[in-house]
Amino acid sequence: MANLVAIVGRPNVGKSTLFNRLTQTRHAIVSDTAGTTRDRQYGKCQWNGREFSVVDTGGWVVKSDDIFEDAIRKQVLVATEEADLVLFLVDAETGVTDWDEDVAMILRRTKLPVILVANKVDNSGEYYQAAEFYKLGLGDPICISAATGGGTGDLLDLVLEKL
Ligand code: GDP
Ligand code: MG
Repeated sequence: MANLVAIVGRPNVGKSTLFNRLTQTRHAIVSDTAGTTRDRQYGKCQWNGREFSVVDTGGWVVKSDDIFEDAIRKQVLVATEEADLVLFLVDAETGVTDWDEDVAMILRRTKLPVILVANKVDNSGEYYQAAEFYKLGLGDPICISAATGGGTGDLLDLVLEKL
């Protein structure tokens, strides 16, 4: 699939919410329960007269920390194999977690363009919190609210620049 953008990140950061917003559908199930999205979900996004494909990669059920860790690695590796660009989604409400650091380490090794996206920045106070994501070594975090759509226009501009 040409021009494929993969959304990766640990459960509950808002991957499915972002997927639904970018594709303007409700195909991906949004849930408070971590691990709800079981299948990879593909869709199309149009922005400024261009079109690209998006995949919501969140496909696992969490049973234990070990399985969770393996599943995350697998998710990220599969995504980087097929994608042309990765949106690495993190959660500004919870801040940096060990899992984020794990995924960041894998993504720093790929040759693909990676955009670090801090989600759940619903108000200005959370912009300051998002600054801590610099330490993931993936450049400037782009602040968005997948729920309200805030910041997603700037994110889409950047996606088109890097695709
Ligand atoms: P996924 O597991 O990464 O696919 O995450 P989901 O898209 O299912 O979202 C997990 C939870 O985070 C749900 O309760 C969403 O409503 C919530 N959520 C997603 N995006 C935002 C956001 O921008 N702001 C806030 N406050 N909550 C969000
Ligand atoms: Mg999901």
